[in-house]
Amino acid sequence: MGETEGNLEKARGVRYTEGRFQWARWGESALRTSRSPQSRRIPVGLKEVVLAGPRGFCAGVERAIEIVEEALEVVGAPIYVRKEIVHNRHVVDALGAKGAIFVDELDEVPPGATVVFSAHGVAPEVRERSRGRGLRVIDATCPLVTKVHLEAIRYARAGYTIILVGHEDHDEVIGTTGEAPDRIRVVADVEEAEALEVPDPSRVAYLTQTTLSVDDTRAVIEVLRRRFPGIVGPSKDDICYATQNRQAAVKELARQVDVVLVLGAANSSNANRLREVAEAAGARAHLINDVRDIRAEWLDGARKVGVTAGASTPEFLVRELVELLETPGHTTVRELRVVDEAVKFALPPELMEIAREAGKPLGRSSPLSS
Ligand code: SF4
Repeated sequence: MGETEGNLEKARGVRYTEGRFQWARWGESALRTSRSPQSRRIPVGLKEVVLAGPRGFCAGVERAIEIVEEALEVVGAPIYVRKEIVHNRHVVDALGAKGAIFVDELDEVPPGATVVFSAHGVAPEVRERSRGRGLRVIDATCPLVTKVHLEAIRYARAGYTIILVGHEDHDEVIGTTGEAPDRIRVVADVEEAEALEVPDPSRVAYLTQTTLSVDDTRAVIEVLRRRFPGIVGPSKDDICYATQNRQAAVKELARQVDVVLVLGAANSSNANRLREVAEAAGARAHLINDVRDIRAEWLDGARKVGVTAGASTPEFLVRELVELLETPGHTTVRELRVVDEAVKFALPPELMEIAREAGKPLGRSSPLSS
């Protein structure tokens, strides 16, 4: 290990392994995939790099990853996971390296195997099919998504038409819609809310996807309240605490910097919304998977760059990005923390039962976000 690498290890708790980062706290055996930023520092001489706080992993994502890791410990590999456990390729690849097999549909899972449902939730029809195939299910659906499912069931039983504000091709919306497909109508924006027709306008409820733009959703709900004055629903919306906090932080961040870089996957709803919120707040904003996606011209003329990360983005990618942007001795790195979070969800009872049967206590491993 060279002197620079040794200093980095001391300063940041990072260990170099053949030019790659390996972060000790997020799965000892999972090699981080990005190449060393030392090899491609961006030569723009930034004055400041500002990190949004909070950013990155939420409680639902930490729990989902922990469920797969614990299942691998308790049951052993392979563990099947239906869909991406969370929308981030680095997370999926790291869990795949440990023995998780990701499938699109249940018919790819051998009968009797253990399958984990992703944090985005599933339709009841998927649960039925898993029973039909004799699969052992561990449900990693985020409890805040489950809450929306329960609201959908309650309104459907009471005879309401349910307007679900969200993106119809997103896994979460597909799962929620499956609770009452004949009663749920999905609207994505103000235009669709204006055009929507329902059988009985006096009996309408609304719900929302958990990862939408707070501001855009407020506008859609205003339209729904005007068009259907008797509409019922949550006091505000179902957007989760993590989405709200990350958007509040990036909005403030965007006011203080020239360019915002959002780390997250192209299919991550909340990461896309962070880019949009930053842009709406006046900054140039780009969504990137990791440092390899950055184009130097994005930073032309920029003195201050803001960094945030979607709720399924591991923190090591943020650190890697900061090291790429930072010119030692010239660039100040600081965090703009707008709210503290201390949310943690319990593991699902079926996982605890499997661990008890196997006589292997769950480790309840440390938070995975560092
Ligand atoms: S973004 Fe929100 S709803 Fe989605 S997993 Fe995280 S806490 Fe749960």
